Amino acid sequence: MEYMRIWNEVDIKEVETHIIIVDDKYGHCPGCKKIGIELKDLKKCPSCGREFKYVTSKEARGGKFDIVMRTRKKLPHLTFVDYGDYEHEIGKKKAESLFKV
Ligand SMILES: [Zn+2]
Repeated sequence: MEYMRIWNEVDIKEVETHIIIVDDKYGHCPGCKKIGIELKDLKKCPSCGREFKYVTSKEARGGKFDIVMRTRKKLPHLTFVDYGDYEHEIGKKKAESLFKV
């Protein structure tokens, strides 16, 4: 199987509320901060019930896609988001909300 990164317009709020951050073995739910979530066939956060549609990993930074392939095998129903893009958009949103106060 070959891989390509495809650009899409997204609703950052939608991504932010349905994403799980994973490493090689486990996941971390940014919603309730639960760590050590088993990945196999995961659809919802076992702790807060958040529905997962997107996944990202710090380990995929810099285009290292071994982790992407392994994650795709475990979670084929989730869309893999580039960690740099995610971090950048979330950071931008946080900066904007600081100015709104
Ligand atoms: Zn959760």
